[in-house]
Amino acid sequence: VTRLARSIVLTIGDELLLGRTTDSNSAWLADRLAAIGAPVARMETLGDVADQIAGAVRRAQAEASLVVTTGGLGPTADDRTLEAVRMAVGGREVDIEIPNPRGVEPARWYEPSDDAGALLVLPGPPREMTALFEAAVGRIRTSLADGLRSVSARTIATTGIPESRLAPDIQPLVDGIDGVEVAFLPDLHGVDLRLTVRDRTEAEASRLLDAAESAIADTVRPFRVSAPSGDVVEALTDALEARGWTLAVAESCTGGGIGERVTARAGASRSFLGGVVAYSNGAKLSLLGVPGLVLEEHGAVSEPVASAMADGAVRAFGSDCGIGITGIAGPEGGSPEKPVGTVCFAASTPAGGVVTTHRFRGDREAVRRRSAQAALVQLLRLIEEGG
Ligand code: ATP
Ligand code: MG
Repeated sequence: VTRLARSIVLTIGDELLLGRTTDSNSAWLADRLAAIGAPVARMETLGDVADQIAGAVRRAQAEASLVVTTGGLGPTADDRTLEAVRMAVGGREVDIEIPNPRGVEPARWYEPSDDAGALLVLPGPPREMTALFEAAVGRIRTSLADGLRSVSARTIATTGIPESRLAPDIQPLVDGIDGVEVAFLPDLHGVDLRLTVRDRTEAEASRLLDAAESAIADTVRPFRVSAPSGDVVEALTDALEARGWTLAVAESCTGGGIGERVTARAGASRSFLGGVVAYSNGAKLSLLGVPGLVLEEHGAVSEPVASAMADGAVRAFGSDCGIGITGIAGPEGGSPEKPVGTVCFAASTPAGGVVTTHRFRGDREAVRRRSAQAALVQLLRLIEEGG
């Protein structure tokens, strides 16, 4: 019988142990290795000490069908991985060197043997590491073929609902379908649901995933981001383009964050006209025409001001749709009525408008990113509902 593939990841570098560099390589590799059917059993971080690295490589090869190391390849004296690998493999020649499209050091590949797993030696810089790993995937598949577990996964992006409210509704629905697992992957923009099926034929896996997706469809619908990328900006720009509408934004607390999100996507110019960052009251008044009386009566963080900002953006740019956003990102500036995290956002289309207030949790960065996301979602839903 073939043993199912298991990987061990070794990340190498004194800077990792000193906390100067955050180890992003392990997480990236764990995700990719799981996806190709050789999930990670263990991760280890080591300093630039040759005999320690050599020992770790030997132990890992004895345990796992695939060992991946990153870091410590460079020509500088503090890079000891190559020396350590030579010690670990006992003078065996490297089987393949994979040229590095983004740097100097190639990746090294050692085929598995009866008593040792395959070994893939990658450089530390993430952009080099990721490119070389992708270049090695074919090798991994060929050499580990029978041991690889078949894994099929589907990701459903949601936004506007926290994991803690989504999970209790979704989990039992997925549990009802044998063979499907669900993982909840939250970030500041929302929660991705990842449905996974292991060790089934492709046809069977796709049938199970379809069944799971239908089972959760109704629950997920109000929060789902239907765009393939899972990015609400893609869904929004598609919706705008489908109607031939343009967008302009007026931002206070997000300081251009909405404009940044929208213009990050290629093709933004087809629907996005521009934005105004109006941080001071004076700027809201002079650039966006927010009436002084409204500012005085309701305060800068208020629904009437958010609406007036959206209208001001539409006027200033001659757009069809507008977003206005104003809030308190913190850590200072809160009050009992309007605590830190209070954000008002308005959306308008030729068919109507909507304005809401939300209290976001988290630090300044979280409030700014969550509120930019919420403002984009609000406009998207308004358009979807025919507004
Ligand atoms: P170089 O030839 O550039 O020195 P290298 O293979 O020797 O590459 P290291 O010297 O170990 O790699 O690391 C180079 C840089 O790569 C580090 O300064 C760090 O910024 C980044 N890096 C290394 N390991 C990791 C890791 N596990 N996660 C994230 N970044 C890492
Ligand atoms: Mg180096």
